[in-house]
Amino acid sequence: MAGTWNWRRSDADQRVHAFRADDAVGTFWEAACELSVPASKIKRTHEGARCVPCLLIIGDQLAERLGQ
Ligand SMILES: [Zn+2]
Repeated sequence: MAGTWNWRRSDADQRVHAFRADDAVGTFWEAACELSVPASKIKRTHEGARCVPCLLIIGDQLAERLGQ
């Protein structure tokens, strides 16, 4: 299921992960790579090194969407 993703930096591991846009409420956010990050550790920036598993997952979804 393809949704909208927001790239946000997690201060827990200093990586930029993809989070579901509709996940913006709650104590923990779950990244595309299934990492759970406390909301307090999420920074509203996408500067920094991106999480490679997240990149691959989002890339796959884009490819599927474009291939249809
Ligand atoms: Zn990730």
